[in-house]
Amino acid sequence: MNTPRTLLINARIFTNGGLQNMQMLFDENEILKIAPKIESDENTTVVDAGGMAVLPGLVDTHVHLREPGFEAKETIATGSRAAAAGGFTTIFAMPNLRPCPSSVQTMNPYLEKIKTDAIVRVIPFGTITDDEAGKTPTDYHALKELGIRWFSDDGVGVASGDVMQAAMKAAVKEDVLFSCHTEDMNYRAPGASVHEGPYAKAHGWIGITSACETAQLARDLEYAREIPVRYHADHLSAKESVQAIRDAKADGVDCSAEVTAHHLLLEDKDVENAMGKMNPPVREHADRMALIEGLEDGTIDFIANDHAPHTMEEKSRSMDKAPFGIVALETAFGLLYTEFVDRQKRWSLGQLLDWMAKKPAIRFGLERTGELKEGYRPDFFIADLDANIAIDPDSFESMGKNTPFAGWNSRVQVRQTWVNGTPVWTRKDTCEYGR
Ligand SMILES: [Zn+2]
Repeated sequence: MNTPRTLLINARIFTNGGLQNMQMLFDENEILKIAPKIESDENTTVVDAGGMAVLPGLVDTHVHLREPGFEAKETIATGSRAAAAGGFTTIFAMPNLRPCPSSVQTMNPYLEKIKTDAIVRVIPFGTITDDEAGKTPTDYHALKELGIRWFSDDGVGVASGDVMQAAMKAAVKEDVLFSCHTEDMNYRAPGASVHEGPYAKAHGWIGITSACETAQLARDLEYAREIPVRYHADHLSAKESVQAIRDAKADGVDCSAEVTAHHLLLEDKDVENAMGKMNPPVREHADRMALIEGLEDGTIDFIANDHAPHTMEEKSRSMDKAPFGIVALETAFGLLYTEFVDRQKRWSLGQLLDWMAKKPAIRFGLERTGELKEGYRPDFFIADLDANIAIDPDSFESMGKNTPFAGWNSRVQVRQTWVNGTPVWTRKDTCEYGR
């Protein structure tokens, strides 16, 4: 009876498919009640949400936190603050680190560091192959003992078909999920930086063909027809990849796919300099439309954003020398809401939240996550959905300021983010809740 509880009042809570004037009672473990009026007692702290929207904490299955190994770009502390500032309460951290978390010896200290430094729920991937070297499948069983059930070699594809098939067979045995960056380097020339096409040619930039992604994806999906691995395709960029996933799903393959906010918002002609250089690259109009339609018809399961911080020195290099990637945690939800919900009125808020919270949680096997309802985790964010702000990289919590979206308008301002029923982040220049 003495567990401290919080009662959130004066809130427009997203529950049962819409924003509703509701109150929400929760403790640190679960949402106890959502109703128009809830009585409080002496164990209950009442928090006024100021009439703002209260949305389920977002889930991103594709984030680069850069620590250990690349702390000049981002750390677990700064990256998890960026997540909270963008409304994300659960993020999966990619394992292309130094050292890679490929073994119990490297995973344990990494998990410890996450425990001390992260302000949102950070779940690390293990690698598909040892040290992402593409030679030997990782010992999934050993890492599963530590609670790791998700594996990726993100940053590179698994080049050898033999190694990939052996890895898939081992993954089936352990019932773990593969999240795959597919990229066949036979299709990528040195210095290639943007989508291969007339726009790249006009700028003298070396292009990356769609086949670079689709060829290896098609190979993996062929294997997955025989080996029933739980297969997830990372950051689809090409229309041919969307079709490959659609065909595999029609054949009953246990596959899913994600798309990033930038592939939904940008095309190759929008790339001005290395700030718009990412891997896979943003492609042509027909590709972007295929990604949007693939998301809408369920071929693509959800949105994940490939937050990839780099230093400004790195990103100010020439197109062929700058590293791939842009930051995304603090812009993804706001930009997608602004373009597709507010401006185009093409999506409902519910669709966007399904793709950014509910569906990734389900596919990645997270319990009680991704929705606001009784019994679920009290993970949510309070946001102004009628804001009118310009994206300002200098205001980011992320150490990475590398975004092509500087100056873009956003109708969303995240005010405060709660994890496990506790406020973990509050925007500095707004009033504070939860006092
Ligand atoms: Zn990747």
